[in-house]
Amino acid sequence: MTGTPTHCPYCALQCGMTLDGGAAASGVPADGAPVRVAPRDDVPANRGGLCQKGWTAAELLTVPDRLTAPLMRRTRDAPLEPCTWDDALDRTVAGIGRLTAAHGPDAVAVFGGGGLTNEKAYQLGKFARVALRTSQIDYNGRFCMSSAAAASGRAFGMDRGLPGPVTDLAASGAVLLAGGNPAETMPPFMRHLADMRDGGGALIVVDPRRTATARQADLHLQPAAGTDIALANGLLHLVLAEGLAAEDYIAARTSGFDAVRTVANAYWPDRVERITGVPLPQMREAVRLLAGADRAHVLTARGSEQHAQGTDMVSAFINLALALGLPGRPGSGYGCLTGQGNGQGGREHGQKADQLPGYRKIDDPAARAHVAAVWGVEPDALPGPGRSAYELLSALGTPDGPKAMLLFGSNPVVSAPRAASVEERLGALDLLVVADFVPSETARLADVVLPTAQWAEESGTMTNLEGRVLRRRRAVRPPDGVRTDLEIIAALAGRLGAPGEWSTDPGRVFGELRRASAGGIADYSGITYARIEAEGGVFWPCPSEDHPGTPRPYLDRFPTPDGRARFVPVEHRGAAEDVDAEYPLYLTTGRVLAQYQSGAQTRRVRALADAAPGPFVELHPDLAERLGVEDGQDVKVESRRGAATAAARVTDAIRRDTVFMPFHWAGEGRANLLTGTALDPVSRMPEFKVCAVRISA
Ligand code: SF4
Repeated sequence: MTGTPTHCPYCALQCGMTLDGGAAASGVPADGAPVRVAPRDDVPANRGGLCQKGWTAAELLTVPDRLTAPLMRRTRDAPLEPCTWDDALDRTVAGIGRLTAAHGPDAVAVFGGGGLTNEKAYQLGKFARVALRTSQIDYNGRFCMSSAAAASGRAFGMDRGLPGPVTDLAASGAVLLAGGNPAETMPPFMRHLADMRDGGGALIVVDPRRTATARQADLHLQPAAGTDIALANGLLHLVLAEGLAAEDYIAARTSGFDAVRTVANAYWPDRVERITGVPLPQMREAVRLLAGADRAHVLTARGSEQHAQGTDMVSAFINLALALGLPGRPGSGYGCLTGQGNGQGGREHGQKADQLPGYRKIDDPAARAHVAAVWGVEPDALPGPGRSAYELLSALGTPDGPKAMLLFGSNPVVSAPRAASVEERLGALDLLVVADFVPSETARLADVVLPTAQWAEESGTMTNLEGRVLRRRRAVRPPDGVRTDLEIIAALAGRLGAPGEWSTDPGRVFGELRRASAGGIADYSGITYARIEAEGGVFWPCPSEDHPGTPRPYLDRFPTPDGRARFVPVEHRGAAEDVDAEYPLYLTTGRVLAQYQSGAQTRRVRALADAAPGPFVELHPDLAERLGVEDGQDVKVESRRGAATAAARVTDAIRRDTVFMPFHWAGEGRANLLTGTALDPVSRMPEFKVCAVRISA
């Protein structure tokens, strides 16, 4: 292996890659050739594979509109112009001081991202609570995995993506994947499922669309959008009716089963068929495959999580997994396919409104005392819980809401629900400061833009979907004029006179993170950079340097007070916004292979832009005929929140009552102009996956 070993900048699979290019500047090595990407075969997640996004990732280092100088508006209506770092930081700190003095510390908000390294996520959370003393911090991961996190927390006492190494999937006898499309979102993951199928295992996909993943499945259940709880309860009903429940396991390792049994009894097959549209023989086959396997997995992803009932939807699938005795059985279990690159670590170390490092709760006195001691402040000085991501964005510039926002590594103008309204709220702020390495749609609205180093230009750690902590290594020197996020946070903290240490060295910040996480659920205290390098990553929890890490956390007991996993009874309620005569179709949103999240990075990579140049609306041929729509023709999609226009893509891979739009693009085809803002009561996840729309040619 030559070059610098590191990991992909994008999704949570965190495929291993090497970057050839040495220590030269601006993504161009000394020999003038561009940085070259090669897949690593020593990383189990990808074993020598990469998707198109990974193969082309080095082009991010040389995008033409890379930000290399701070930008500032002299007045509200003036254009963004280059300025010095001192001017940009002074303006930021002066604004914070003025607004805090007038309105209190919660006048300033912080918004982070699931792509930030653990070190940055940790330091950003500390910065909000110690330097700004604001409770108003959350991050875009709230839009990603928060429902699975909440459901896992209440069932298992812990939230960690997969129940074991991803390679465990290959030995599984059956995998039920609800609401995930890894064939497009993380293609190398499919190799593990292919290995499973080669060994005789079965892949069952639950998705309203016949996606690229569903086409590779042995069984595809195609429920109506928003009906997963009914489906999962119906599957559980069949498990019970056919005597397939793991009674000994349920008695020995779980609690709360009787209440769930009572609920499941009411989901008789013809009722479930009527709600979901999934035929009974398919449900029976799914149950037969899952219950008949020695090892099996139930996995969920965004399709079952991004709902106003997202936490309950995941709980319904966890109940099914528990009834079959899967969680805690070697080589089996329930897991969530985390989406963003550090979606897992980003939610463990304090970016969330209600959390402190180590997955501690911010309203737990013992947690506050521990973290405050590490930070060198009094526990009472730490603010309490703040607003969740959408609630925070929708409060900006309102009389009771924040007047300023500092935003790192996120592009909510494209990725947040009801995006036009979010854009309006950002525009109502007295001060918007955006740290990014490209002029994203959100950065273009800012009063101050701080140009950052990116991915291959800095080091740190990422925690992948397995819960394995990995090293991201610097391969090239950042362009002159940019700073790392840690340098920016340290400079702001220094100007604000914040107490404690604000190191710019990722290794030193990680050392502090280890101390802050010690004793917490996500305990990283035994993980060191040296161990990660020597062992190819370390699984948390890892409470001491002589602890081996925890690849499979539930084998002996669950980290709940009584050591048992908890069944949680959940009922189907349907989407927050159902179809009606005015808006008769369901819209569901998602991703395509060649783009990533808001597209701020991937839309700038030529090969990816060529492969997926713009938005589209997927609709069934029968619907297209009824509306008089031809393939490729522009159609207008309207919801109660707005309208978007994009080219029709006619396909029988989607249900007749549903249309699909990917959400990666800005402009008039922005899918999130349409999406609703109903929030899950537990996870505060917005309902991205279903809303009512109408279509016209
Ligand atoms: Fe990168 Fe994810 Fe593609 Fe792997 S699957 S190369 S981590 S985007």
